[in-house]
Amino acid sequence: MLALPQDSEFRGFVALSARLGADPLLVQAAGGNTSIKRDGALWIKASGKELRAAQADTIFVPVDLAGVRAGIERDEADPTAGRVQGDTALRPSIETTLHALLPQRVVLHLHSVNALAWEVRSDGEARVAERLAGLPWAWVPYHRPGLPLTRAVRAPAAAGVAVLALANHGIVVGADDCIAGEALVREVERRLAVAARPAPPPAAPRLAGFANGSGYRPAADPVVHALATDAACLAWARQGVLYPDHVVFLGGEACVVDDLAALSGAVAAHRARNGAEPAALLVPGAGVLVAARAPAAAEEMLRCQAEVLLRLPAGTAIRCLSAAAVGELLNWDAEKFRQRLAH
Ligand SMILES: [Zn+2]
Repeated sequence: MLALPQDSEFRGFVALSARLGADPLLVQAAGGNTSIKRDGALWIKASGKELRAAQADTIFVPVDLAGVRAGIERDEADPTAGRVQGDTALRPSIETTLHALLPQRVVLHLHSVNALAWEVRSDGEARVAERLAGLPWAWVPYHRPGLPLTRAVRAPAAAGVAVLALANHGIVVGADDCIAGEALVREVERRLAVAARPAPPPAAPRLAGFANGSGYRPAADPVVHALATDAACLAWARQGVLYPDHVVFLGGEACVVDDLAALSGAVAAHRARNGAEPAALLVPGAGVLVAARAPAAAEEMLRCQAEVLLRLPAGTAIRCLSAAAVGELLNWDAEKFRQRLAH
């Protein structure tokens, strides 16, 4: 069993991780990760673990920092393999290499809704540049999480950047201690903050009619229904998916059901195309149904999608993940492992 350090710095890092993880506008389910570099080790969140559980559960694993960095330099297939320190079955986050590469001691990677509301726009880079002007920041074009993203971050990391805006993904903030890291996260969030548009409420009786005997239930989180009651949100949801965790937990395609008679046919067609039943059904004007068997993470991801889309002005041009990028995520072993853990 792995023992975590108990000094005040590490306890402060754990508390900060739990605090950030408890904010659904910064972290959803097992997404996002934090790390601290100490005494030659990189302590990083384990794959599949939730940041909000940082104080209640053991969610961090130490890896040999110099070894992982050497593995990145040598282009090893998995620079973390064999470099976990201590007796643990936990696997370090898929983003471990990104954390290792950055020079700052504390690295905070968040799937910030406010950042995503800019990063999914076609004009995202220019809009973010206006808002982060004066900070040591860089825009990072979309790459699959893991080594492809790590390689894309090499140049800005070497240039001493402290804030990375990841296209269609989130933010990374680096600082020399937890207090400075949290302050920088708050500053970035303040600059990128967008108010959510109000959305029409769900049509509960109509939605209940769709749910009856379907294996789906109305979403419990009221925000989720905006995906189907707000015409602009629905149009964007039909266009495609916007960031990696959405694909991992909800698949690569929204399932829209216009009338009750079409429900079983729509589910079967979705299954035929995607190899799995949809995790959610969007009923235009009525609301969102979630598969009764879906994990809690699915509804958290739907909430994130609604929160992002409600922060886009109507008519905004968005940039979805390409079919190739979606396929890459769906066929990715490390991510399947994480998904299995999360279920
Ligand atoms: Zn991420």
